[in-house]
Amino acid sequence: MKDLLKDPTLLRTQAYINGAWVDSDSGETFPVHNPATQEVIAEVASIGAAETRRAIEAAEVAQKPWAALSAMERSAVLRKWNDLILENVEDLAIIMTQEQGKVLAESRGEIVYAASFIEWFAEEGKRVYGDVFPLPQGSSRGIAIKQPVGVVAAVTPWNFPSAMLTRKCGPALAVGCAMVAKPAHETPLSMLALAELADRAGLPAGLLSVVPGAHAKPIGDEMCSNPIVRKFTFTGSTRIGKMLTAQCAETMKRVSMELGGNAPVIVFDDADPAKAAAGAAASKYRNSGQTCICANRILVQEGIYDEFVDELKKVVGGFKIGDGMDETSTHGPVITRKALEDIKSMVDDAVEQGAEIAAGGQFGEGGEQFIQPTILCNVTKDMRVFKEEIFGPVAPIFKFKTEEEAIAMANDTEFGLAAYLFTKDQGRTWRVSEGIEYGMVGVNETLISSTYIPFGGVKESGQGREGSSYGVDDYLEIKYICIGDLDS
Ligand code: ADP
Repeated sequence: MKDLLKDPTLLRTQAYINGAWVDSDSGETFPVHNPATQEVIAEVASIGAAETRRAIEAAEVAQKPWAALSAMERSAVLRKWNDLILENVEDLAIIMTQEQGKVLAESRGEIVYAASFIEWFAEEGKRVYGDVFPLPQGSSRGIAIKQPVGVVAAVTPWNFPSAMLTRKCGPALAVGCAMVAKPAHETPLSMLALAELADRAGLPAGLLSVVPGAHAKPIGDEMCSNPIVRKFTFTGSTRIGKMLTAQCAETMKRVSMELGGNAPVIVFDDADPAKAAAGAAASKYRNSGQTCICANRILVQEGIYDEFVDELKKVVGGFKIGDGMDETSTHGPVITRKALEDIKSMVDDAVEQGAEIAAGGQFGEGGEQFIQPTILCNVTKDMRVFKEEIFGPVAPIFKFKTEEEAIAMANDTEFGLAAYLFTKDQGRTWRVSEGIEYGMVGVNETLISSTYIPFGGVKESGQGREGSSYGVDDYLEIKYICIGDLDS
């Protein structure tokens, strides 16, 4: 892959621990595959528990002097890192497309998005304020100050290999924490390239270590059990998130969990069908359906159902599935062959129970991991596509009659991350937005994610918020100080 990059030194295959590039103790490596071609594009150091422990210990040493700097001094380093990321968008996007599969335009977008978290929190770190409390005894005052939690461990998924790091380390570093981060084994190269740029920006050694590994468990076990780690932040599946939360309970770590979703898009009769279809498609098929806020269930009121399906077919008809490196491709492959099989089994389940394929339905054509964007009609609540996160380019379109029924269907899931609705009615906008149990609601808009908003879920979609001014809270402790005897 090196020959594709303007700066081949961004392609790092060792771990980055305490400011140094290192092999694993065992010498073990693991392959990284290009999902479009199945080619092996790199062999990366496979880190275990002992190296993870060393990274955590180095973070503890580095964190204290970092926290003692002013927020302005920390901000200057982070801004330099942001600038370097933006100067290298093209190379970073190529690395991402090669290991993740998303089309170049989406990769470029993610790199800019990833940088924006660094830039935003470099500023937000300057605005960590405290409070003063009047107390009943006049000779005392209560004060609350906010301090960094300390050493943070982070585990991130493969679907947004850069942004899921910066969303976490942006606020953590800005307020004076240190971080040890584990990328997904499918996509370690993007995070390692960002670490290279952090190093060039002058981030002191130990403040951000990256520990890639073929085996997640020994790394995760060390992160969750080591008492030095005071906070664990995770983005990934609900199953693994619950397990890691339980592991963190042993040392009472603070946790942030950004987990799975089952996002409904509710389209009411009064909506514009073309706009609703364009919005639903943008959410459903982005990153080939592999985002936790992707539309999972499209709920359409009966009066507009057929028109909506026709409009969605038109949008999908304009897509071109192919290698993300080809600038004419609009959508890339899914991450692994296993992911394709899982998605296919959900479609098979729906079809066996009477669903009708209104578009797409081809799996593995034009490339082993490619799925044609698929639309399913005649779907029911008994099918797996209603209950499970599809994580692929398959849109099941359900029918409903009343607003109450739509709200009940939307809430009929253990998940509660993002939901969307299309309506022109202001009263309905409020009733439905308040009636559904989700952390984020898009009204007549499905591209809701940005650095400037509090991203996060309720129910089994997790806890904590990333982005916006709330994004620093997860990395800060509140300390109450009582100052007495002020009369004398
Ligand atoms: P997905 O199904 O999307 O891959 P996962 O929850 O399995 O979601 O993975 C998200 C992240 O969690 C990845 O970095 C993966 O390596 C990591 N992971 C999986 N199992 C563990 C574990 N036992 N301990 C720590 N991290 C884990």
